[in-house]
Amino acid sequence: MISPHDLFIDGQWRPAADGRRFVVHDPADGSELAQFAAATEADCLAAVDAAADALSGWATTPPRQRSEILRTCFDILTAEREQFAGLIVAENGKAYADALGEASYAAEFFRWFAEEAVRIGGDFRLSPSGDKTIVVRRDPIGVSVLITPWNFPAAMATRKIAPALAAGCSVVLKPASQTPLTAAYVVEVLRRAGVPAGVVNLVTPVPAGPAVSAMLHHPAVRKLSFTGSTEVGRLLLREAADQVVSSSMELGGNAPFVVLPGADVDAAVEGAMVAKMRNGGSACTAANRFYVHDSLVEEFTARITVAMKGITMGPGADRSNELGALVSPEERDKVARLVDQAVADGATLALGGETPEVGAFYPPTVLTDVRHGSEINQIEIFGPVTAIVSFNDVDEAIAMANDTIYGLIAYVYGDPAQALAVAQRIDAGMVAVNRGVLSDPAAPFGGTKQSGLGREGSSEGILEFLEEKYIGIEV
Ligand code: NAD
Repeated sequence: MISPHDLFIDGQWRPAADGRRFVVHDPADGSELAQFAAATEADCLAAVDAAADALSGWATTPPRQRSEILRTCFDILTAEREQFAGLIVAENGKAYADALGEASYAAEFFRWFAEEAVRIGGDFRLSPSGDKTIVVRRDPIGVSVLITPWNFPAAMATRKIAPALAAGCSVVLKPASQTPLTAAYVVEVLRRAGVPAGVVNLVTPVPAGPAVSAMLHHPAVRKLSFTGSTEVGRLLLREAADQVVSSSMELGGNAPFVVLPGADVDAAVEGAMVAKMRNGGSACTAANRFYVHDSLVEEFTARITVAMKGITMGPGADRSNELGALVSPEERDKVARLVDQAVADGATLALGGETPEVGAFYPPTVLTDVRHGSEINQIEIFGPVTAIVSFNDVDEAIAMANDTIYGLIAYVYGDPAQALAVAQRIDAGMVAVNRGVLSDPAAPFGGTKQSGLGREGSSEGILEFLEEKYIGIEV
């Protein structure tokens, strides 16, 4: 699969103004995959200008026409899904099956929002006095800057582009510098599907900070939609404040996985493996902290250790491998440091914990007797590490689950009625009850507390790119 290696501005693929490029690596062996154009600040502002020029034409394009272009993107991505997955594997390192799952999930956002594009509603009300008519329209919010991370390089981009375009907004996409090829491919698919020049633009400034700041200070920009770490999200909220740019934030998670007394251990282990190992653990939704009732902790640990031990690790390009590489040696070292620190804090290593010499790999690892409050329980691990803490009392488990600045997702296994009652007491934007995966284009995805602001996907997702306008009519 050949993906463009350039910037896409005003309908043209072009190199950076100063010709500078940066290297994209294959994390499985560190080899060079491509040299991608490094956008200058002027390139980024040119992209915003192009989006601003294209805005009114796109905003007034009949919704049916916008919808059909999005539907064509779904069709192309679906037909090319295997090559698309190969590209994701090459620059992200994940296992092929994970990449194939992401390719389908990414395509689904085009289909979902193709359907939402023709259902943008409004409202008609009467004032309490009975003599005033209130009409509420929903208009596109305007030029939108979309910033995405490396862990789901396809789906995080389509989850933003599709609703923005469905709403009638023009966009500038800035993907992570580790994974620009997947984003460039998605943009090329949009071009092939007939998106007019300037409606979608792609820039890749390295470093990102100054150029993104310049874009957020461009008077035409009215929306920032960011997915990434809470740390960078906070920085960008401050940048967006200067021009009061509407901001949606999909930030970090620290998901608890609670196994209640009486839970079916086989089902809990099966769900835990999905919740932990999807995307090799590099997911904001990854189960991070396993709180298992005392009565089940021994059995749960033994079974999950066997399951983790059975996972084959190696380059994602070999389709039989279930666990690929992390995105970079730096990410691998971060995971290794968290594990070493947990062991120094008194945790026991039941499996794994050794860093292989070649590639950005980290093996399936199980830690038991983890102390609640140790660093590994406070920040995202973003790797294939199961950290188990036992509990005696359900209230204590809920308190530990809520003892975090994050509130993205939680998992609860147990008797359905009890698990539902616990789910209601956990402070998170999403709770999975007796399920290991929740992501669904039809569901509102997002977090509470410092996991974010706003929701993506579902009928709520398009609202992030629409603004209400009230027109009062004298009757
Ligand atoms: P990151 O915050 O380092 O980077 C995200 C994006 O922001 C990248 O495009 C990066 O180039 C850009 N960026 C970095 N510094 C910037 C700056 N100073 N100014 C402007 N842009 C900047 O995150 P990451 O390491 O790429 O991704 C992993 C993080 O993303 C994790 O915290 C994960 O939980 C989170 N994530 C959240 C969701 C969600 O839906 N809540 C989904 C996927 C990933």
